[in-house]
Amino acid sequence: MVPRSGTICQTSAWKQELAEAYRRLDDLLAACGLVAAEVPDLDLLPADFRLLVPRGFAALMRRGDPRDPLLRQVLPLRAERHLTPGYVLDPVGDGAAARGQGLLHKYAGRALILMTDACAVHCRYCFRKHFDYEGLVPSAQRQAAVVAAIRADESLREIILSGGDPLLLSDGMLGRWLHRLDAIAHLRRLRIHTRLPVVLPSRITESLVRVLRATRLDVTVVIHANHPNELGVAAEHALRRLRRGGITLLNQSVLLRGVNDQVATLEALSERLFSCSTLPYYLHQLDPVQGAAHFAVTDRDALILEERLRTRLSGYLMPRLVREHPGAFAKMPVSSDGWFSRLLNPGVSLNDPEDP
Ligand SMILES: *Cc1c(COP(=O)(O)O)cnc(C)c1O
Ligand code: SF4
Repeated sequence: MVPRSGTICQTSAWKQELAEAYRRLDDLLAACGLVAAEVPDLDLLPADFRLLVPRGFAALMRRGDPRDPLLRQVLPLRAERHLTPGYVLDPVGDGAAARGQGLLHKYAGRALILMTDACAVHCRYCFRKHFDYEGLVPSAQRQAAVVAAIRADESLREIILSGGDPLLLSDGMLGRWLHRLDAIAHLRRLRIHTRLPVVLPSRITESLVRVLRATRLDVTVVIHANHPNELGVAAEHALRRLRRGGITLLNQSVLLRGVNDQVATLEALSERLFSCSTLPYYLHQLDPVQGAAHFAVTDRDALILEERLRTRLSGYLMPRLVREHPGAFAKMPVSSDGWFSRLLNPGVSLNDPEDP
């Protein structure tokens, strides 16, 4: 048993857990009580983006169910090899938006740093799955350039640490970043986009919370859970620990066919999030990344789901259904897409009647 107190033991515990994550399909299937022949369309030799699933996350999957919603998020299928028109390598235009040195500045007042290309889990629908991080993740030498760019732009009030998963950096590295950002007077807020409280909750140590508390910036952690079963007891404890540290907790999900495209699932997700001190933030329409078309839910179905969800949930438990448009000034509500595309095509009158 690893003692629960003692920072050093806790730190090595999460690194050890990451080292022991499933990287071989056979091991993952065995953990789920499945054999390859039972899984329809399984890809035994995926070309890129190899399998990676922490054991604690796999333990939340239902045994013997090839359609388990957590398993579906991480299982390589042959459907990923289909080339679907409109599904591209960099669907959100990050390559073009990169302002050099790993700083993405697309929206007013906030910019995003790609802290690392590493994740603790490989999600098959990920929009960054083919992303070329080469030269975009700031190396030790280039961190100074990122900080200088942020210091020079007084319009920035919020910095988002993203990736990859920024919480895979050590406490020491994170502490040094926070220290540099803290010293930039025009910054007010820090946001961390991470899946680790869900897939590797042992990462949320008291030592990490101390690092996140040691800044004058208001800290928000935005987690990523798509299904209520992802939030087990360990995740709940990790999130409560962050909350006790004064950190605001939000969740973003991706709407995924066969995972969370049922109103009861989305309702249960919002309820479970709240019981874990976390508010729903975004429900993203899938970014059209090559090899993920089998996860797509049509806009019509997504809007119907959203309206049904609204009949069941308190207002503050409703996630915002959004889509990312390359070149847009924000994530846009799916319901405004018709209006938005007319705005982008000034030849078309804004007073055109809406499609039914
Ligand atoms: C999504 C995103 C943000 C954050 O957008 P919010 O709507 O504020 O959550 C910021 N920068 C980039 C580049 C993004 O992709
Ligand atoms: S954790 Fe996030 S960035 Fe990493 S593979 Fe999953 S969706 Fe992509």
